[in-house]
Amino acid sequence: MIKVIEEKTLFTGKNFYINGSINRNLTPEFLQELNAHFKNSEPDEILDWGFHNFGKTMVVGTGFGPSGILLIHRLATLKIPATIFYLDTNLLFEETYKLKDEIEELFGIEILPVSTFLSLEQQAQNFGDELWKTNPDKCCEIRKVLPLKQYLSDKKAWVTGIRRNQATTRQETDIVEWDPLNLVVKINPLALWSNDRVWDYIETHNLPYNPLHDFGYPTIGCVPCTQPVAAGEDERSGRWKNLKKIECGIHMPAQNFKNRTDN
Ligand code: SF4
Repeated sequence: MIKVIEEKTLFTGKNFYINGSINRNLTPEFLQELNAHFKNSEPDEILDWGFHNFGKTMVVGTGFGPSGILLIHRLATLKIPATIFYLDTNLLFEETYKLKDEIEELFGIEILPVSTFLSLEQQAQNFGDELWKTNPDKCCEIRKVLPLKQYLSDKKAWVTGIRRNQATTRQETDIVEWDPLNLVVKINPLALWSNDRVWDYIETHNLPYNPLHDFGYPTIGCVPCTQPVAAGEDERSGRWKNLKKIECGIHMPAQNFKNRTDN
């Protein structure tokens, strides 16, 4: 059952700092104020705000796309010791695992894998072979959504690299949001950035990136559900190709949950 958050106060019991002043509760109004404040901010200010407010209970998720690599670079530069994690479905591309190793070595960090306890063999035994073909929502739930929820259950905030212009489902992404699925604050420092701006950053700083991006893969997820995209096609159209699905379920828009109860 998805818990619906309708209370005026989303998050209580600590002081939130902005512009040197203190707000006791994270309310929808305060979220609005925060997003207005951060509208023209660089990621550094936003990451610094997150770590200042949440400390080690703020974690950073990455899928090793260019936005995630940019954020890891900023964290390393700012020396913010936040835990960085990725959802390891055991179905990622070899190139993605190699990139993870390269980034770990480059920045002297360890990136934590977050996975389901269900092996691919057990999944096939319980749900049939190639669940990603017969029921991709179930497969994503098992291998991504539930492991993330479990991992975030004792955290207060998570940082992501999602951006508004990545997909129609992300058009209303705010820089600071309440995540109603995982009941934590979600911080998206690059929400307002364009794809070109992110790639300019990667090139300017000579940062590594997944070589599949040079072969028609604008976004890269699991091997069975990622295909190359033709020039001019939507950035995420290579994900779950020929299905209506364009999100795995970990980035459901907060507004989907307003005034709604799901079982
Ligand atoms: S992206 Fe595909 S393979 Fe990966 S968890 Fe989702 S359905 Fe399964």
